[in-house]
Amino acid sequence: MTAERLYFDWNATAPLRPEAHAAMAAALTLDGNASSVHAEGRAARQLIEKARESVAALVGAEAKNVTFTSGATEANMLALTPALELAGVKRWRDRLFVSAIEHPSVLCGGRFAADAVERVPVTTQGIVDLHALRSAIARSERPLVSVMLANNETGVIQPIADIAAIVHAANGILHVDAVQAPGRIAVDFAALGADLMTLSSHKLGGPQGAGALIRRGDLHIAEPLIKGGGQERGLRAGTENVAAIAGFGAAAAAALAATQADAARMAGLRDRLEAGLKAVTPGVVIFGATAPRLPNTSLFAAPGAKAETAIIAFDLNGIAVSSGAACSSGKVQASHVLAAMGVELALARGAIRVSIGPTTTEAEVERFLGTWITLSSSLLKEKRGIAA
Ligand code: PMP
Repeated sequence: MTAERLYFDWNATAPLRPEAHAAMAAALTLDGNASSVHAEGRAARQLIEKARESVAALVGAEAKNVTFTSGATEANMLALTPALELAGVKRWRDRLFVSAIEHPSVLCGGRFAADAVERVPVTTQGIVDLHALRSAIARSERPLVSVMLANNETGVIQPIADIAAIVHAANGILHVDAVQAPGRIAVDFAALGADLMTLSSHKLGGPQGAGALIRRGDLHIAEPLIKGGGQERGLRAGTENVAAIAGFGAAAAAALAATQADAARMAGLRDRLEAGLKAVTPGVVIFGATAPRLPNTSLFAAPGAKAETAIIAFDLNGIAVSSGAACSSGKVQASHVLAAMGVELALARGAIRVSIGPTTTEAEVERFLGTWITLSSSLLKEKRGIAA
């Protein structure tokens, strides 16, 4: 990334941490297959097991319960199967309940039949409606529930421990997509009451293309997604991507060590950014503003502005931000997250997501605000039909 560019899209992917880069470079000098018994194989195995320890430690889990995958999408697909056995009970899950604001890799329902998947609504602040959750899962004998820890668009943090209590009281299993949380807030697998948890390397400064599924020690996944050579204790076949896993492990260790200090700093910068936005644009709406949120994320919209125009204008000014909207076949659609929060389509179409990271500086936030001041007058003119 050149010095002039300003990267404010850490929720899409975080820049590689130097520790991850170094671990990957070292791993790339190895020759062995981690399944081989010779010295070369054992060296590769050692890196994987060290990374497993670091990823487990990141969320206070046990290393033996960590399965490496190609990313969070695959970990979600591995987790979302009826074929789960908890505490030796071999009766599989009959229905899947997902919150309406999940990532598409959860919303699609994993390996459940489409008619066995139900969406649970959220409040206008983007928090899962606990009453709706309770009554929805009451219609199932053995529910599997998937709720994310923090939303990638709004940063809103879900009350996972409360959700776990509701799910467990209904004989359910809880999967938590925690992809956006580590390095930003402390994550404790057991304290949250999760039975399954998904992590992604590239959201916390590791390489893209690595992730993990963490499970409770007494939870068995009876149907792996990828079958073959029996790697990852039979849960994920295929020769391991040693360098990516080593990078993931190094990033996890670095993130864990720095979370507390980084979170406080990022929250200060995010608050400054939002105060600046409000000062310049009084009508600005910050989504999920009164809910608990990640310290690094702000999703906002100025009535009348169009996200796609704003993002291109920012990019031309050297700033990478994202929209709260998903772009498919060239047409920007309203974000399903904002739609679920009851946000009007016209406002949702203007949503801009800023997501910062541990290396973001005050000067960068000021530059962003300066650019917003310059751009917003022309962006907001669109609303009044004035050529900008
Ligand atoms: N879940 C959430 C909440 C995400 O933000 C993402 C990435 N945008 C994913 C899952 C998918 O992660 P990956 O890129 O590792 O497949």
